[in-house]
Amino acid sequence: MGRYTDSVCRQCRREGEKLYLKGDRCYGAKCAIERRNTIPGQHGGKRRGKTSEYGIQLREKQKTRRIYGVLEKQFRNYFEKADRQQGITGANLLILLERRLDNVVYRLGMGASRKEARQLVVHNHFTLNGKKANIPSMLVKPGDIIKVREGSVDSPKFQEIRQAGAFKTPPEWLEVDIDNLSGRVLSMPTREQIDTVVNEQLIVELYSR
Ligand code: SF4
Repeated sequence: MGRYTDSVCRQCRREGEKLYLKGDRCYGAKCAIERRNTIPGQHGGKRRGKTSEYGIQLREKQKTRRIYGVLEKQFRNYFEKADRQQGITGANLLILLERRLDNVVYRLGMGASRKEARQLVVHNHFTLNGKKANIPSMLVKPGDIIKVREGSVDSPKFQEIRQAGAFKTPPEWLEVDIDNLSGRVLSMPTREQIDTVVNEQLIVELYSR
């Protein structure tokens, strides 16, 4: 399965804003955007000139892909699926991205970043409704139970989470049970419940060209 291999901070520098890809580091002085907000690479440097309409739409799509750690082809597939669904395509797209298992693990506070959550999923630390779930792109639905696997409960990572109560407050569509290291999907997320700062309409316009 494809994935990003580029430095994560480089991705933020390319977009010129914090995408919060690294967990705690993103909130401190070591954040690359705090230190040096320039375009990376040989022809990088300062941002200059006016960006075209196409350029703005493209950047918004790239930014969203990077936030959720999804490659172009898969992102396009999400868009096509969102377009076939009833309702507003842009909102449907974000809802699909939010329903990914790696995102849900992150939202439940079991990974400091989506990247870490993705790794935990790939390394087989979770079950979905009692069954092995090691595919980050699995989509959750209302009623689903996400739980740390029996064999992983005693690992330092999860013990730390349990003891520190390190879970974030999850969004309204999720419920977390710290003692049992599990979470439940209460409902489908709505666009209003997704705090990702993107203008999804720009992505719709890009793909509608
Ligand atoms: Fe982006 Fe976080 Fe790196 Fe800052 S520390 S550049 S927000 S990934």
